[in-house]
Amino acid sequence: MEEIYDVAVIGGGPAGVAAAIYTSRKQLKTIFLTDTIGGQSVGSSGIENWIGVESLSGIELAKALEKHLRAQENINIQTSQRVSKLESTQNGVTIETEKGDTIKAQTAIITTGGRHRHLGVPGEEEFSGKGVVFCATCDAPFFRDKTVAVVGGGNSGLEAVVDLFPFAKKIYLIVLGDTLKGDPITQEEVKASEKVEIIYGANTTKILGEKMVTGLEYEEIPSDEKIKKTLDVDGVFVQIGSVPNTEFAKNLVETNDFGEIVINHKSGETSQPGVFAAGDATDTPYKQNNIAAGDAVKAALSAYDYVLKKRREQK
Ligand SMILES: Cc1cc2nc3c(=O)[nH]c(=O)nc-3n(C[C@H](O)[C@H](O)[C@H](O)COP(=O)(O)OP(=O)(O)OC[C@H]3O[C@@H](n4cnc5c(N)ncnc54)[C@H](O)[C@@H]3O)c2cc1C
Repeated sequence: MEEIYDVAVIGGGPAGVAAAIYTSRKQLKTIFLTDTIGGQSVGSSGIENWIGVESLSGIELAKALEKHLRAQENINIQTSQRVSKLESTQNGVTIETEKGDTIKAQTAIITTGGRHRHLGVPGEEEFSGKGVVFCATCDAPFFRDKTVAVVGGGNSGLEAVVDLFPFAKKIYLIVLGDTLKGDPITQEEVKASEKVEIIYGANTTKILGEKMVTGLEYEEIPSDEKIKKTLDVDGVFVQIGSVPNTEFAKNLVETNDFGEIVINHKSGETSQPGVFAAGDATDTPYKQNNIAAGDAVKAALSAYDYVLKKRREQK
């Protein structure tokens, strides 16, 4: 007979792991489908706000999450499983994965988080890993005594600049608007550094290079003449925010203009009955590990209530 899970948790960051631990402890038959376990902050060298632990690296957090997850019963854990489609059926949902597997469940909890937003300019993909960097914490140490450009004036851009302080000899901070948008304390730190030159009103148009990055081209805005300027740099850190990994669910659940899944923040319910979501994939205003995990617990308990109600109705 075809196997139908009570709940399918999609995504293996702090939200997914929290959701699966709770559904398993509620004795729900759970399948856990994820590309990788650990989530986005795996690239972080120091996480100092994971409640209960003073400081740990992203890798340590990922290992702790995986250990806790694997200590549970009732979970069919499948990694390297990217979900490509989520559809509703009469009795729940059907999930398709990029490997070609089809999985059925009564409920789904979407916790697929986000990924780095790209500039979409020439040279960005070509020199990715050859001077173009998306994870500042991971790669800043490779730019010792180098000149680099950080693109993005929000929190991720500012944090990338701070990550580069001990290494880079010169840091251009390329900002599209006319102000910085990140935390005031970090803004002050960045502005006070002699290494940093902030270029406001600059739209990055190209990343230049041969084998490796050699420069960044931008145009000043507003600019009627569209005059292009070039900076000689050894690296370009693209830090312009993230995009939610929700493409596979867009035909099923309501998303906002940013592609984030719209949820009921009390319950984690989406617009589709039986489908819940939590963490960075949703329209939660704060993208943080603790919030992702906490909201996922709410979603898991709501999924539990949903399954119980269905069971009672079927009796
Ligand atoms: C460099 C960096 C440092 C950070 N530092 C901190 C910090 O110090 N403190 C803090 O609170 N927050 C920090 N954050 C933010 C924090 O990482 C996120 O808020 C948190 O990871 C969100 O968790 P999540 O489970 O919702 O999603 P994610 O962590 O993004 O996890 C999503 C998971 O889903 C999987 N996935 C994606 N698409 C699919 C698919 N189609 N099918 C199956 N699986 C899929 C991914 O492999 C991943 O395992 C940091 C983020 C970054 C990038």
